[in-house]
Amino acid sequence: MARTAIPGRLTWRAATVTAVRDETPTARTLTLDVPGWPGHLAGQHVDVRLTAPDGYSAQRSYSLASASPTVELTVQVLADGEVSPYLGTAVKPGDQLELRGPVGGWFVWRPTDPAPVLLVAGGSGIVPLMAMIRTRAAAGSRTPFRLVHSARTPADALYATELARRTRDDAGLDVHHVWSRTAGRLTVATLNTHGWPPDFAPACYVCGPTGFVEAAADMLVALGHSPRLVKTERFGGTP
Ligand SMILES: Cc1cc2nc3c(=O)[nH]c(=O)nc-3n(C[C@H](O)[C@H](O)[C@H](O)COP(=O)(O)OP(=O)(O)OC[C@H]3O[C@@H](n4cnc5c(N)ncnc54)[C@H](O)[C@@H]3O)c2cc1C
Repeated sequence: MARTAIPGRLTWRAATVTAVRDETPTARTLTLDVPGWPGHLAGQHVDVRLTAPDGYSAQRSYSLASASPTVELTVQVLADGEVSPYLGTAVKPGDQLELRGPVGGWFVWRPTDPAPVLLVAGGSGIVPLMAMIRTRAAAGSRTPFRLVHSARTPADALYATELARRTRDDAGLDVHHVWSRTAGRLTVATLNTHGWPPDFAPACYVCGPTGFVEAAADMLVALGHSPRLVKTERFGGTP
């Protein structure tokens, strides 16, 4: 039987870096030009593949940070990591990457979704949640959104300036930061105060390092949120 090309999102595409933007001292956003990009939903991610001249290749997942059709990825550099130091410090405009996607149909938000939204982010787990905030704004949606974002210090917080502006200008968006180095870890009390009551049946999206996601999802369920409405995305790291 003749082999046929695998269409669409399973195809590796050549992407060109068109801009890089520092977000914090250890995180950068890459803007990519991806010919044939089919568009994406807020919350989806892509696989990025890097191949060395000797043929060795490494592949990692990165959430789409931008509202479709713009393709932006924000990479948090892990000092002992293999791929993130390259994407987060070495890549420059004009460089090419291979990219596959968009991937994922569960951890997504659509502007037509009617429920209020609670976003809970740990560190760089804010990336796909920022795509939801940006998609909401781009669609002119007034769906009530609350974001609880845990970061080590204000200097580590991604998108802080944009979030401050959006809290002022985007009606129905509230943002609460937890600075874990001084205030400690996210607590049930914080989610109770800055989230939605379970009676509102909000759609909850939790994203970050594995340990953070598991703890935050357990807290939401303990507060009375239906596990069915708590969607999670784990970036890896803690077992
Ligand atoms: C669906 C999905 C979406 C993702 N989106 C993003 C994103 O938008 N931005 C982003 O920066 N990363 C994102 N990640 C994480 C990303 O895929 C890589 O795991 C990360 O960049 C580390 O890769 P590395 O090669 O530098 O580190 P590796 O060489 O793979 O690992 C180095 C060390 O860091 C630990 N580690 C790996 N990942 C993490 C982590 N997330 N937190 C803490 N420690 C970790 C490993 O256990 C290891 O000890 C996402 C992961 C998934 C599964």
